[in-house]
Amino acid sequence: MFTVDYEKISAGIERYNPRCVLIQAPEGFSEYALKLADLIRDRFGCRVYVSADPCFGACMLPYDAARKLSVDLIIHMGHAAIPGMDSNRVLYVEVRSDLDVKQAVSKAMSILKGYRKIGLVTIVQHIGKLMEAKRILEEYGKIVYIGKPRFRAIYEGQILGCDTSAAEDIADDVDAFLYIGGGLFHPLGVALATGKPTFAVDPFTLQVTDLKDVKRRFLAKRYASIVKAVDARIFGILLGLQPGQMDLDKVREIEYLLREHGKTVYILPMHIFDPDILSSFRSIEVFVNTACPRLALEDSFRIDKPVLNPSEVMVALGVRRWDELFRDT
Ligand code: SF4
Repeated sequence: MFTVDYEKISAGIERYNPRCVLIQAPEGFSEYALKLADLIRDRFGCRVYVSADPCFGACMLPYDAARKLSVDLIIHMGHAAIPGMDSNRVLYVEVRSDLDVKQAVSKAMSILKGYRKIGLVTIVQHIGKLMEAKRILEEYGKIVYIGKPRFRAIYEGQILGCDTSAAEDIADDVDAFLYIGGGLFHPLGVALATGKPTFAVDPFTLQVTDLKDVKRRFLAKRYASIVKAVDARIFGILLGLQPGQMDLDKVREIEYLLREHGKTVYILPMHIFDPDILSSFRSIEVFVNTACPRLALEDSFRIDKPVLNPSEVMVALGVRRWDELFRDT
């Protein structure tokens, strides 16, 4: 189902010549991580650890564990490198799907009727199939655009939860977007950032989803959260401690703004979003997420208090308008 370029990994290990390696992978790839541990141990004689901590993205590198375990090389499996984070102590190893996308794209054709110019986006697991998907769409008479990312994604057409710039790049050229991949978090980000009709097709389940209703329900919930925050007095700012999530400037900016509006503010550093722990801060009325955008998009509904992104806080404070936050065309 997925392929890992073990030869590339071997070449990377030969280059770094580590004595001790820490492998990190998202849950779905845990078994691949064990197989890689066997390979490294057998072929190179290194001591190998496999992280059992949660891993949702390429930004969550386990530097603390690496330091405590005297690890020379972190191997992060499953996500593409984030520019600036692939230092000489980190080897990013992508895991690519080998699934044929022909069936998935053909299945999506019925929902794409009426749209001629299509923007294609995907996540790194399916990036190797993007040109095949493009060719199939073109056979159906579509004009296909694939955009260039500007921030954290590195491949044309690749999006992340925190970087939909590859879609924004071509938003003005296309009638609709087709996302190839699982889950609705990524295509929802595209729909919100571009305002264009967005459809998702999962190459594994062949399920096709129109994001229109997902987006409508999502915005209704976000708006309700903002309304709840308008009269709140006590705010907790979530400061992500993951290496690629910590944004102290943003924390200071929001802290300053909230204090200026007479609010009481607490800064809450955290590695992982845990609704139970946050619920224990009973006097805090609103949480402000400055870490991974997934928290406010997906996980905030696991807690019964508003969890707003900084731009939503600005709406609650009357500094920005709600209709400025998301594109709707
Ligand atoms: S911040 Fe969130 S969306 Fe961005 S890379 Fe990290 S885990 Fe993924």
